[in-house]
Amino acid sequence: MPIVAVDDTDSRERGMCTTYVGVRIAERLERAGGRVTRRLLVRLNPAVKHKTRGNAAVAVWVEEIGTDEAFRVAEETVREFAAAGDPLTSPGLVAADGVAGDVPDDVATFARRALRERLSLGEAVAIADRHGFTHAGFGSGGADGETAPGRGRIGALAAVGAPAALDEWTVEHITYRELDRCGTPREVDADSVFAAADAEYPTVWDTVDRETGAVVCVPNAPGPILYGIRGDDAAACRRVADAIAAEPAERTATFLTNQGTDAHLADGVIGDLRDGAGYRVTGVVASAPERKRGGHVHVSVAESDVTDGENADPAVGDDPVTDDDPAAGGERVLRAVAFAPTGRFRDRVCALRPGDRVTLCGEHEVRTGDPGPDGTLKLEKFAVRGLVETEPTTPTCPECRRTMSSAGRDQGYRCRDCGTTAPGTVEQPIDREIERGWYEVPPSARRHVAKPLVRGGFDAPVHPER
Ligand code: ATP
Repeated sequence: MPIVAVDDTDSRERGMCTTYVGVRIAERLERAGGRVTRRLLVRLNPAVKHKTRGNAAVAVWVEEIGTDEAFRVAEETVREFAAAGDPLTSPGLVAADGVAGDVPDDVATFARRALRERLSLGEAVAIADRHGFTHAGFGSGGADGETAPGRGRIGALAAVGAPAALDEWTVEHITYRELDRCGTPREVDADSVFAAADAEYPTVWDTVDRETGAVVCVPNAPGPILYGIRGDDAAACRRVADAIAAEPAERTATFLTNQGTDAHLADGVIGDLRDGAGYRVTGVVASAPERKRGGHVHVSVAESDVTDGENADPAVGDDPVTDDDPAAGGERVLRAVAFAPTGRFRDRVCALRPGDRVTLCGEHEVRTGDPGPDGTLKLEKFAVRGLVETEPTTPTCPECRRTMSSAGRDQGYRCRDCGTTAPGTVEQPIDREIERGWYEVPPSARRHVAKPLVRGGFDAPVHPER
């Protein structure tokens, strides 16, 4: 059974979209006598700089047609539709025979790595050749340091291997515009989108942002997508799509995807994070969050060797770290940032206090000039594991209720009027504006591959954005 996979067909300026090319390939394969059994939309490493937008590759599974014929049909379609005139577009096509249920190990590993590393075209071509996959590159090539055209073969090969590399799948049902409307404003009735989204939430997610009123399912880019409905069930996504009032649709297609799965994240340790990879890291808030110029919120988190459930202190929340200075003792400290477009998520980050124990998720980026090996984690979500719930304050006099004053260095406190004394500060409860559990960016700021909390499966209570 052939799998035909394609990537890198679109252009930021000229439009187009790899899912559209994939859909046209699938239609033509059927016209040529094939039976398409699956359309896969695979999101790869979001940290790859040369992506156009969402780093997506598409694979089409087809039966009842030979691999050579399938490749020929796909090649013709790519030549017709890919925005290959843009020097930054580098389309690639891979056709593999008979691997759907039995993906070779190195192809599966390549797919897994494609979500968290930066891979080379040379490696993709070597693996494809080793297994006798047919492949081709189009366009001018040479982009981004690659010497051959067809960088899209990296994503295409990863899309071939994805079913063996990933174990969680969701759905996107895409409605496409008439091609001659591309580049004009999309006519979509927002009220109908909100009503349709509400009817199927939470099976269907990230369709709208209910707090800002943004219609998230309608892209801004110049390409052919009118709207894309994401969720856990294909029929529910189609119902939402069908209920939306909009300009005439040219065609629709349902993809199986790794969107909304967090497939790009791996557990990491502060002090040992690679550049350009997604992580989940646990640590202790080391300094008060700060709003910086541009509206970005920064917070530092120190590594912690406290494991869940240990070191609980009756004076504080579930599992905070109670050291006076969590960053003391030479621990490694990671900067985390919630960027301005993450909107209200920044208020959650601002609600953290030094000593809170957290798990942070996001992409790790090291920039030239960063002082050490640790760079910045671009926050997508975080969990509060333990909250500092009290703070030391100057005691009040039990007689007159006024604040006592210091009795001298290391001599505690006393009330000058009443003569009462206290040995030291007393712990007072603090009003916290955040609770234990997971917090996330709003739907309008979500990365395609990031898992919305409403999908479930998290290890603490969730506070979903909707
Ligand atoms: P589209 O909207 O068409 O999906 P895109 O955002 O997916 O656009 P592309 O234009 O496809 O971006 O560019 C991504 C390029 O990066 C492709 O050539 C793909 O082969 C390549 N690529 C994908 N994953 C990796 C990776 N892990 N390492 C290196 N290159 C990669």
